[in-house]
Amino acid sequence: MEILYNSTRTKGNPVKASEAILRGLSQDGGLFVPERIPLLDKTVEELVQMNYGQTAYEVMKLYLTDFTEEELKDCIAKAYDEKFDTSKIAPIAEADGAYFLELFHGATIAFKDMALSILPHLLTTSAKKNHVKNEIVILTATSGDTGKAALAGFAGVEGTRIVVFYPKNGVSPIQEKQMVTQKGDNTYVVGIHGNFDDAQTGVKKIFGDKELAAYMDERGFQFSSANSINIGRLVPQIVYYVYAYAQMVKMGRIQAGEKINVVVPTGNFGNILAAFYAKQMGIPIDRLICASNENKVLYDFLRQGTYDRNREFVLTSSPSMDILISSNLERLIYYIGGNDPDKNKELMDALIRDGVYTVTEDMKARLADFYGNYADEQETAQTIHDLYEKTGYVIDTHTAVAACVYDKYKKETKDTKPAVIASTASPYKFTRSVMNAIDHKYDAMEDFELVDRLCEISKVKVPGAIEEIRNAPVRHDHVCEKDEMKQTVMDFLGI
Ligand SMILES: *Cc1c(COP(=O)(O)O)cnc(C)c1O
Repeated sequence: MEILYNSTRTKGNPVKASEAILRGLSQDGGLFVPERIPLLDKTVEELVQMNYGQTAYEVMKLYLTDFTEEELKDCIAKAYDEKFDTSKIAPIAEADGAYFLELFHGATIAFKDMALSILPHLLTTSAKKNHVKNEIVILTATSGDTGKAALAGFAGVEGTRIVVFYPKNGVSPIQEKQMVTQKGDNTYVVGIHGNFDDAQTGVKKIFGDKELAAYMDERGFQFSSANSINIGRLVPQIVYYVYAYAQMVKMGRIQAGEKINVVVPTGNFGNILAAFYAKQMGIPIDRLICASNENKVLYDFLRQGTYDRNREFVLTSSPSMDILISSNLERLIYYIGGNDPDKNKELMDALIRDGVYTVTEDMKARLADFYGNYADEQETAQTIHDLYEKTGYVIDTHTAVAACVYDKYKKETKDTKPAVIASTASPYKFTRSVMNAIDHKYDAMEDFELVDRLCEISKVKVPGAIEEIRNAPVRHDHVCEKDEMKQTVMDFLGI
């Protein structure tokens, strides 16, 4: 059955999946949401027999209903191939009684690869389907991981260019090196003097600039977004929750139909929203455990029903979660408000105007599936340390936030259902913080020396993504102020 996409801020004018992917964000500033969440039409027993690509098809076909079977299968085949260092694509590692769903086996060793290895193909397919002649300019704000994953996904893809803005002093050294060494004539990387929210706000502003859009169109360009607000990213992320559930059954850890909990280290709310969609599709997920770092705006929201971004922005060792405006939360707000765009718009306007909104008691009651908590810097480091000491398994800082919050959840609720923890980055991406947590003696070492030490203690091979940047030359050294972003983009395009 066909599924169309509505904006979270205006009634009417639903669009097809391919149009929603092309546009990224709706003209009114809202996010595209499927008019309803489809139910899986395969049983768990059937899913257990499927590999990652087959699972991806069964999930994505239900959302991208204007793609032909051939188009979708072609996109999936191009995405989940040898770029991943395991044919399982998203394997599960068991440690200390929890199940770590490793989402970091792709080209840039963070979970963003799960969606960004397929988005370029979904986007170019969507462009063809809609007879788009313009070159597509991907504009992305990144807190570190999206940028590199998007660059890797779009580099060299014909008919596209990509511009990535990152907070100059807000990403890890390895994240920065990964981005500034990016190859490809269609790639541009810019550091901004500001934080991630500044970068994201600047990008949203450029997207909303109708005059600029018209000017670009005359010159053969149009913008699209690779940020997690694009449903072309959200939909592929549902896949690994379905796959993980089937894998847990296959591994004999649960019976088909048995409920699990899911723990997600959260920033922009995309990953955990995908888990929520998987639950709505029929996967037996009980609680959705939302883990925050010291930027605990979501924890406060889930406890109190008030979303308040008026607070100090904290730079933490889990920079991909250093976010005060979780964009994808808007989709959940729309949903708990009964799919009412007016109600949602009112709250989002308040967020822009005052930096704060409060949902009604009714809406808050519909958040019962979610549990929120947070880990401070010390707890995060302690979690990495203790898990390593106990099991030898090394996790990155983001995953550690989730593991720590999961411990708090168990203590608070005594709920012992099997839990899948979304493991969102390889420890190699945050080597310094990880090694420091394990032992302070590593503090004095160089970044790449730390990489070699991590290899020794974890007995996990150094990923290709890290080897590749050891000696790679810097290709991008552009820095701009946050109010110069639009001009910077135009300069790049030569218009
Ligand atoms: C992006 C990211 C997150 C946060 O995911 P959201 O979908 O933005 O909530 C967590 N961990 C890592 C490593 C990431 O790259």
